[in-house]
Amino acid sequence: MVEKRNGLTEHTGRSDNSRADLHLHTTYSDGARSPKEIVQRAHAAGLSVISITDHDNVGALDEAIEVGKSLGIEVVSGVELSVALNEKDIHLLAYFFDHTNQKLLDYLSFFRYERLKRAERIVQKLNDINIPLKLDAVLDQAGIGSVGRPHIASALMEEGLTDTYHEAFLRYIGAGAPAYEKKYQLSPLEATQLITQAGGLSFLAHPGKYTTDVELSTLIQAGLDGIEVVHPSHNETRQEFYRGVVHQYFLLECGGSDYHGGKKNDEGTFGVYTVSLDVVEDMRNRLFS
Ligand code: AMP
Ligand code: ZN
Ligand code: FE
Ligand code: FE
Repeated sequence: MVEKRNGLTEHTGRSDNSRADLHLHTTYSDGARSPKEIVQRAHAAGLSVISITDHDNVGALDEAIEVGKSLGIEVVSGVELSVALNEKDIHLLAYFFDHTNQKLLDYLSFFRYERLKRAERIVQKLNDINIPLKLDAVLDQAGIGSVGRPHIASALMEEGLTDTYHEAFLRYIGAGAPAYEKKYQLSPLEATQLITQAGGLSFLAHPGKYTTDVELSTLIQAGLDGIEVVHPSHNETRQEFYRGVVHQYFLLECGGSDYHGGKKNDEGTFGVYTVSLDVVEDMRNRLFS
């Protein structure tokens, strides 16, 4: 595997085991693969460190850590939280926290309960506009995962109520669409405090997707430890920009593929959007030295 300047890697056969993917989803949120499958794939791709960052859920971590041990892959604790900044949905990634921390677990189960209630409200709104989706079809899609709009979009498709996944968002459940419902969210400060008390570090996820410079500055002040620099939505220019911000504010960087598998059609990202192990070492140093 050869590292290019932009943080992407090119496959040239087996790798040098020096890369990490710190943004992966499993069936514990809206990913298509189990924790075990993700770790096995990481092994096959030659990664040596990964983090599983399910939405509002740390249920995948014990299994992933155990499989990781047997395959020689370090699995760093991770989670992706949604926070609200002026009504905008912003994602934070957290790493290296104690995933048995009771306060964190209590919050996560509360978020998941709120997600279920929201799914019920969305289904009701769909029914009100004569889209006959049943909650059970959504829950079947979610399985053990935290239920979210991706599951509702998949259920709408499976039931033949929309032609494509994206159409579900455009016509029904995306922001501004008739069956849209807001999610319960913490403020950025509450989220970074929750992660800090659990011993972890907080990062702004994929800022290139939606974050203005003013918002970025507000979020840094809310206690972020770093920014996700490598992400499929960031081109080389964006990566350089965020790396510059990281250096300017003495922050850390993180990065990964945001791989979900399945309907997201993102197979090409696995093992490609990675960061060097120095990135992981810098996190450890910030916490433990
Ligand atoms: P939720 O956390 O339940 O609000 O779901 C958010 C997820 O839905 C995002 O992470 C995306 O994966 C997906 N999503 C949101 N908006 C769209 C859209 N317009 N098209 C496709 N997927 C979307
Ligand atoms: Zn997701
Ligand atoms: Fe995200
Ligand atoms: Fe993600």
